[in-house]
Amino acid sequence: MTFHVMLIPTLDCPSNCSYCWGSKKGSGMMDIEVIEYVTKWLENFKDESVHFTFHGGEPLLAGYGFYKKALPMLTQNNGYENAGFSLQSNLWLINDDMSELFHEYDVAVSTSIDGPKELNDFQRGKGYYDKTMAGYDLLTSHGVNVSFICTFTSHSIKYYEEVFDYFAKNGYNIKLHAALPSMRGDNADSWTISPKEHGDLLVKLFDKYLENLDNLSIKDFDHFCKSVFIRRGTLCTLANCLGSTFAVGYDGSIYPCYRFNGMPEYVMGNVYDTPSLEELMDTDAWRKIQDFNDFVDEDCKKCRYIKFCRGGCPYNGINSNIEHTANAVDPHCEAYKMIFKDITDKINKEFLTGSLGIPGMPTPNKSVDSTKKKASVMDLMNKL
Ligand code: SF4
Ligand code: SF4
Repeated sequence: MTFHVMLIPTLDCPSNCSYCWGSKKGSGMMDIEVIEYVTKWLENFKDESVHFTFHGGEPLLAGYGFYKKALPMLTQNNGYENAGFSLQSNLWLINDDMSELFHEYDVAVSTSIDGPKELNDFQRGKGYYDKTMAGYDLLTSHGVNVSFICTFTSHSIKYYEEVFDYFAKNGYNIKLHAALPSMRGDNADSWTISPKEHGDLLVKLFDKYLENLDNLSIKDFDHFCKSVFIRRGTLCTLANCLGSTFAVGYDGSIYPCYRFNGMPEYVMGNVYDTPSLEELMDTDAWRKIQDFNDFVDEDCKKCRYIKFCRGGCPYNGINSNIEHTANAVDPHCEAYKMIFKDITDKINKEFLTGSLGIPGMPTPNKSVDSTKKKASVMDLMNKL
């Protein structure tokens, strides 16, 4: 098992994406001493491997000097020598030194682009696309693996085919996001898409994905299918993330996830106090997320997808009612049901037509399958 620690050097960000729900101008900046205490906190915390993700705001605002010290510190911590690293950034501040360092530490980088330049800059701001793609070119020239997050908004959803074709044509691997409302303000509200729109989008994109399996990977569909097969969520949104994910803010505060970063009522502790798991569990912030899990156990108990959905994301569920209490599942439940149904219907159809195989084994009737334009769910499973 691997647990996940998100490190948030700052919530500040130089870009001004219209629908951003998470950044905060003028936020403080993490001192390298916080990383030193992260290693102390984790020393005897869990007997599992750890994956660190640098997130923001914009994590590259911390600068080369921060990462030059932080990456070796985090790998030299007792028991976490095999730590993995990811970074989520708009890449505007990347340079040769950072690219080399990220290559040396095998940091998996993800950036955000919402499709072709004109569409992207309409919702993320003029000049965004060119700056981010310059960063992409620099990092890939240093051998760093870069993937993309594509956010669908009330605007870009109208152009979903163009957006898909853009990523497929360029062979970029992506993760999909639906624009979300924020707990911190209402600027993002007009950009959000409804659960029904989200579900329709997922079903349509999944068909396009199966027609283009050789051209790109869409992580969400890989996880949705895998989760249906093994009947356990393999993506945080489809699993119980409490206790397997933590986020550390710039001042050392520990949160359940980066989505709660900067919200005092979700602070579980601070790395300077090196709290044990038991101490974090004995906090109001932990209990709020546990309340969500308890609500899901009751409210979703008759749902056929509960084992690999687990009520979706607690942040979305808690944020969906004005009191921010745990009395609702993730409102995108409707979208999850639509895509899970589509996947299971496809698997059942493949079973009935005899094209279902076992992952890792050659697909039966391969000679027939290879002439099909659209791949099957089993073809996707065999690819993973
Ligand atoms: S709160 Fe949501 S985004 Fe964060 S780890 Fe949990 S499921 Fe994932
Ligand atoms: S699909 Fe909806 S009802 Fe089913 S487990 Fe997920 S959130 Fe609950």
